[in-house]
Amino acid sequence: MPGTELFGNEERKEINDVLETGILFRYNHDQQRNGIWKARDFEAEVKKITGAKYAHAVSSGSTAIATALAAAGIGTGDEVIVPPFTYIATIEAVLFVGAIPVFAEIDETLCLSAAGIEKAITKKTKAVCLVHMCGGMADMDSIMAVINDYNLLLVEDAGQAFAATYKGTATGLFGMAGSYSFDFFKIATAGEGGVLVTNDEEVYKLADSYSDHGHDHVGSNRGMEQHPILGFNYRISELHAAVGVAQTRKVPHIKEVNRKHKQLLTEILSATEGVSFATLPDPEGDSATFLNLLLPDTETAGNTVAAFNKAGVTGFNYWYTNMYHFINQWDHIKNLKTASKLPVEVLGHSQDYLTMELPKSQEVIGRLISFGIRCTWTEDEVKALAGKIADCVKSVTAVSA
Ligand SMILES: *Cc1c(COP(=O)(O)O)cnc(C)c1O
Repeated sequence: MPGTELFGNEERKEINDVLETGILFRYNHDQQRNGIWKARDFEAEVKKITGAKYAHAVSSGSTAIATALAAAGIGTGDEVIVPPFTYIATIEAVLFVGAIPVFAEIDETLCLSAAGIEKAITKKTKAVCLVHMCGGMADMDSIMAVINDYNLLLVEDAGQAFAATYKGTATGLFGMAGSYSFDFFKIATAGEGGVLVTNDEEVYKLADSYSDHGHDHVGSNRGMEQHPILGFNYRISELHAAVGVAQTRKVPHIKEVNRKHKQLLTEILSATEGVSFATLPDPEGDSATFLNLLLPDTETAGNTVAAFNKAGVTGFNYWYTNMYHFINQWDHIKNLKTASKLPVEVLGHSQDYLTMELPKSQEVIGRLISFGIRCTWTEDEVKALAGKIADCVKSVTAVSA
């Protein structure tokens, strides 16, 4: 988690600016705040990195994707194609705007594939919620062809892919709206926070109002503002935004260092038999927060995880057994268990969540082991890690050979 590695005076300065005015609220109080607008600054920094026309900071990546879906017009009864490999927030957001998730296959990009999306399309399909996973990006040319052919809406959860690009365009900017997370585990953190991006003024205005009880944010008298729509409270506080400002300014540096580390790891591990890597449709656009290893099969990957644990190798995720990132452990979704009744329970769903089969996704995630890249590693530490990974893989593949 690189952002947290670099927490320092820059973050403290931004927080102190807010503490000195005492205005922890992102709107209004124009006189007392002394020109301090951290949420606005945070949005400006995100626009600088992504090239988005509009950016809107909210309380989390989860509320950013929920807002993106709503602002794109996705709601009750709409079928939305989603991946079985994502942080659970994506699926929750689709369910809680009232929509109906339909799971489709991913491929070696770790994201939904064009073929997977096409196969999952029904007469009711309204949108695709594409998730750019593990610092990389989906194969956008082929996906946009399907989106356009079938006249679907695209919303992107780029929670793990801030600062990643595909052929020069930032993840999050291919569809109606996109979202990034700035929680504690991402390339940059606000403590808690998220940012929605869009190039569409109407979507931006809806997002801005939706995330603050419908306020239109015109004028300086909050109680007398117009409320064109209903919304809810997904606001970010100035304290969180302040941290987000300082952290986002560090992202170009983090990305550069991460890419160097990942390059070296990849070079060394390419020589190890049995190791391949997740596909990057545009290697130049990698945010390089993860090194994504693909082993020959699920059994070898499981044995490699055991070998890592035995050798004391840390800093990796085996998503196949992770409770929050892969469908195999999502019994609550399969059984639609939540605190109160969901629209999908009333409206029904054409896909049987209990019996659906996604063999390609099972195969890819079964083989995947992801190492978080740290920007504070020394070159020697990178080489030592690569050596340990190679030794563990070799010990496993030698036994099975
Ligand atoms: C982290 C993440 C989220 C949720 O972000 P929070 O800020 O923790 O709410 C959503 N989607 C993806 C893909 C994520 O990785």
